Amino acid sequence: MEQFAVIGNPVAHSLSPDLHNWVFQRLGIEAEYRRKRVTVNELKDFVLRLRQGKLKGVNVTLPLKELITMELDWLEAEAEKLGAVNCVLWQRGKSKGYNTDIIGFRKTLIEAKINLTRRTCILLGAGGVARSVLAAVLRADPARIVIINRTPKHAYNLMRWATAINTAIEITTATLMEAKALFTPSAAIINCTPIGMFPLVHASPLPEHYLQQGQTLIDTIYTPPLTRFLALGKARAAQAVGGMDMFIEQALASLDIWFERKISDEVSRTELKNYLIKITNQ
Ligand code: NAP
Repeated sequence: MEQFAVIGNPVAHSLSPDLHNWVFQRLGIEAEYRRKRVTVNELKDFVLRLRQGKLKGVNVTLPLKELITMELDWLEAEAEKLGAVNCVLWQRGKSKGYNTDIIGFRKTLIEAKINLTRRTCILLGAGGVARSVLAAVLRADPARIVIINRTPKHAYNLMRWATAINTAIEITTATLMEAKALFTPSAAIINCTPIGMFPLVHASPLPEHYLQQGQTLIDTIYTPPLTRFLALGKARAAQAVGGMDMFIEQALASLDIWFERKISDEVSRTELKNYLIKITNQ
């Protein structure tokens, strides 16, 4: 039986095993997916041991996405550009790193029919997921991108990284107050912070008066599926898209890589999403 896992710290609340094991069962694939807590200090040994071990692939989560790039034999171009890996495949004795978070966000835009071209995109947060989201947003040809983050230096570093790979799009950093005038009806606002994630479900990364009709709000958080940020926006007739789609798409893209076949075409998104929403509500 082929074996897979999500590695990181913490991983106890990861929904990845539920998602992948549901797919294996649905498609009759003889495989198993587990959680494995791996700390920063354990990572090097873990990857070394894996070379002789049974795992065929892993998903990588906080805080290992950047660190693991140093331990792998080969990085796919996008993962190398991003300096972050969330999917590893062991193939013929070699470890290969991919970033399927970018694919996940890109597919979210397609599924939700969101067009960012010539729009102002406001990114809240400047961590790991913000970098993947930014890479996908850059390709969508927005008019400008504004990064707002608790620690201004992290926003500045992310801006520097993005301007080095794309000089055509205006990318700036701002405080919430400085950016106030940019929260127009045509703005797209993407939450890449954990504000609103379980158990802090009553928090929103933005005050209500920043939200209005016409805006597109995307949350990368998927527990709960409808965050307070999205609920506040929905009440004001904004388009609201949760992080569950991105989560599902990054996982299906990982399965395509591990099995070298389009598993993503064989799975019903609706059934899978309903299953994940049901278990997150339990
Ligand atoms: P990360 O690398 O730790 O970055 C977190 C970001 O949020 C940083 O910019 C941090 O600001 C900011 N932040 C954290 N706590 C904050 C607070 N209390 N107030 C204001 N800002 C705060 O984490 P990440 O990997 O990017 O994950 C962020 C979120 O994305 C998580 O909620 C996670 O669930 C979600 N995510 C979703 C998917 C998906 O597939 N849907 C995939 C990965 C992650 P500082 O720079 O000041 O620290």
